[in-house]
Amino acid sequence: MHIFLYGPPGSGKSTLGRILATRLGRAFLDLDQTIEASVRKTIPDIFAAEGEAGFRAREQHALREAAATATPCVISLGGGALLNTDSRALAESAGQVVFLDADLPTLEQRCARKLHSRPLLATGRPISQLLAERAGHYASFTTRAAVSDAPPETTVDHLQAAIGLYHVSGMGTPYEVRVGANLLPHIGALVADIGIGSQTLIIGDANTIPRYGPRVAAALSATGIRAECLALPAGEAAKNIGTIRAIWSALANAGIERKHALIALGGGVVGDLTGFAAATWMRGIRWVNIPTTLLAMVDAGIGGKTGADLPEGKNLIGAFHPPSLVVADTSVLATLPAAERRCGLAEVIKHAIIGDPGLLDLLPLPDEPQRLACFVARAMAVKIRIITQDPYEQNIRAALNLGHTVGHALEKLTQFEMPHGHAVAIGTVAEARLAEAAGLAEPGLADTLAACFASAGLPTAFPHGVSIADLREAMRLDKKTADGQPRFALPVRLGDVRINQVIDDSLLHTL
Ligand code: NAD
Repeated sequence: MHIFLYGPPGSGKSTLGRILATRLGRAFLDLDQTIEASVRKTIPDIFAAEGEAGFRAREQHALREAAATATPCVISLGGGALLNTDSRALAESAGQVVFLDADLPTLEQRCARKLHSRPLLATGRPISQLLAERAGHYASFTTRAAVSDAPPETTVDHLQAAIGLYHVSGMGTPYEVRVGANLLPHIGALVADIGIGSQTLIIGDANTIPRYGPRVAAALSATGIRAECLALPAGEAAKNIGTIRAIWSALANAGIERKHALIALGGGVVGDLTGFAAATWMRGIRWVNIPTTLLAMVDAGIGGKTGADLPEGKNLIGAFHPPSLVVADTSVLATLPAAERRCGLAEVIKHAIIGDPGLLDLLPLPDEPQRLACFVARAMAVKIRIITQDPYEQNIRAALNLGHTVGHALEKLTQFEMPHGHAVAIGTVAEARLAEAAGLAEPGLADTLAACFASAGLPTAFPHGVSIADLREAMRLDKKTADGQPRFALPVRLGDVRINQVIDDSLLHTL
């Protein structure tokens, strides 16, 4: 499926298209430039020689050729390219059309700079008149991204959240992450696009398979992929080698071969187990992740870490084995228990602090489906940006451990009775207090973060019975320790986290 960028002259289709194509690992095609190259004339010259009708005919022809390109591209269109209903139908069937919504002052300023290259404006006709003439047409596009005078990279961030499409590279074969409000019915086509053979096993748990397994199986079957479902017991207690053993047996019974791929349909537990089973089955087969908890969408489901727990510790067995596709359908969050939503929100807030503070202004979790999908996409984007730069946690990926040095210690000290999200919330606030005491964070940051977590219904204070001495000892045994010293990712201000920080022991008493 192509991505077509459309909007009035000056909305930035070419600049944004180039950035988007690079991020998505796709080719970029500028339709106006293609037309100019094909006739070796500029657009104004074509208008002068052939009139608008002649140009539109060439434009329609170029669009047909571009739409027929076999590999998915990012294609920027001229500001009137979809006025023709056939052209619009063609673009909408060959991909997704995104309308770039720029305000009038921005358009006026940009068009004034390049009037000579815009024949419909060069005669002195104001852009406002063009917008008024095309108002109904432009308003009819539903997928829209706001364009302002923000840097183009920021606009592309918003554009990607609106279309829910990301590309993760750096570990193994690059893969797409899709997020949207109602993607399960399209799962067959999305999975068929990556080619997984004619059969698969959908692995979920006792909560996700009864709810969503048949829907996913039906969507797969519609594209000729036969799918059986396997329901594992729900919850962390099942994240062990016994369950992996059961998955391996199910794979043998279902006749899953190297050319096939597994499908994970569940939270972080199901994703970690399925990914690990895929990493080890026949020395490694592919897998598709359909995360169904907020935590799995924004965190566990992307990044390629898979594994299981041992009685001796969490996640001690594992492999880096990224999925071949991630599809997050945010409509399934409607059935997620409130406590699980809150735990997911802890990771969302963590991501906001690390790389997208604007997300905090959108809390609580939106109800409206499109806004919810966009919100989840933005939280995912923070992790995607980081793991694409540092897939194996050599440096910047350690920022994702914000709140986790204290958080993991709290989980251990409460024998894992404290939910992970609570530990992250308390841990992040505690680490912000340490950062303030160390003179690293701006004063008041810890209180600001505490208010954010509290507004999401998360705790921010240490539970009774946890002493600083116990905490220090538990942190020393953590895998983030180096040279006997716990390492922290500490917040400095919203949007700025420093990794590999060592804290003087005496500061722990400020907690
Ligand atoms: P989970 O998978 O146990 O899911 C929580 C509960 O929600 C389960 O009972 C599940 O059955 C239920 N559920 C899932 N989706 C539902 C839906 N749509 N409707 C109703 N119920 C639903 O827990 P989690 O919080 O998603 O994941 C935690 C796990 O993720 C931990 O094991 C953790 O180690 C792992 N994790 C992995 C990574 C990674 O990078 N691989 C990162 C963070 C966490």
